Amino acid sequence: MALIVQKYGGTSVGTPERIKNVAQRVAKFHAQGHQMVIVLSAMSGETNRLIGLAKEISANPSPRELDVVISTGEQVTIGLLCMALQEAGVNARSYTGGQVRILTDDSFTKARILDIDGENIRRDLDAGSVVVVAGFQGVDEEGNITTLGRGGSDTTGVALAAAIKADECQIYTDVDGVYTTDPRVVPEARKLDTITFEEMLEMASLGSKVLQIRSVEFAGKYKVKLRVLSSFQEEGEGTLITVEEENNMEQPIISGIAFNRDEAKITVLGVPDKPGIAYQILGPVADANVDVDMIIQNVGHDGTTDFSFTVNRPDYDKAVKILEGVQSHIGAREIRGDRTMAKVSIVGVGMRSHPGVASRMFRTLAEEGINIQMISTSEIKISVAIDEKYLELAVRVLHRAFGLDQA
Ligand code: ASP
Ligand code: MG
Repeated sequence: MALIVQKYGGTSVGTPERIKNVAQRVAKFHAQGHQMVIVLSAMSGETNRLIGLAKEISANPSPRELDVVISTGEQVTIGLLCMALQEAGVNARSYTGGQVRILTDDSFTKARILDIDGENIRRDLDAGSVVVVAGFQGVDEEGNITTLGRGGSDTTGVALAAAIKADECQIYTDVDGVYTTDPRVVPEARKLDTITFEEMLEMASLGSKVLQIRSVEFAGKYKVKLRVLSSFQEEGEGTLITVEEENNMEQPIISGIAFNRDEAKITVLGVPDKPGIAYQILGPVADANVDVDMIIQNVGHDGTTDFSFTVNRPDYDKAVKILEGVQSHIGAREIRGDRTMAKVSIVGVGMRSHPGVASRMFRTLAEEGINIQMISTSEIKISVAIDEKYLELAVRVLHRAFGLDQA
């Protein structure tokens, strides 16, 4: 008998029929003697609909009131699932985040979990009930409703699993696990049986949308056994997210390829090559809340240098405008940009012990005539910025070059 937290995403509870299917699955686990805590998202599309309603009233709604509105989707699904479980003869009780006392800070719309009481969950489990908790929401010290950021139900699931010391946290979604890359781009992509927390974190930050990044951070920190599975398949082990295997000879060098289309590049040409210039360029950009990703400063000559960086494409116009505003102050000759960039990243803990990974990546791209415009690396990741029109090709050839294609 195990204590299991299962989280079901929006598509898994998107219709009454699907909610009944979830109830069947939960009832089966319960009948096997497991103690079950279920965390739910809102029905798919519901959170967007609620945000849309708010925007019809106000272009800039108060974050506190926005959370009051957008947290309601989850309250609907938890009640419906409990009814479905009860119809199936299983005792079940639903709780909102505030009722469980998922205590968060007061940063509305992106709150962080500080503490979970879990008292009533344990009591109900001991009494033989299934407990169903609303994902994505909590309360602050003062009892205000907060939400955890888009996709936050994953984090609720993992945080609850950590708080009640669950044996496993299972994230049920519309894919059957984590893939080597997006199968829509590379049909040969394979489902991974395991991936390490670090790799998963990189994949999530680089654009793989399977799990909310914070849930992976949380699971790594509290050593929660985390598994991603499909709610539409009866069988299958999904993908287990693990701590790095100490000495696994079979460890592949690269576990996955992540990519992001929505990149843009900005180059500031002919700036004085002197201390403080990076700060003068990037300071105003950061002040406007624009995230900067890759950065290159060229070697200077004649006392000037060029400075390039990438931003998310939706921030491109804003960033260019800011730079044009400070251009003469910085003493820059010209500001140029390219809004059709993409980023491709290879990720794998095996890189640490295998030299030559970067050169294989660069050679593979060179053989296809793909020009690399920027490079950034971490211990377990190499990212390149390329022209968006080569994105699919780059992902496909890298997938093959690193032996990730299906056997
Ligand atoms: N319903 C919320 C969202 O759409 C939270 C979640 O689904 O995880 O972002
Ligand atoms: Mg999600």
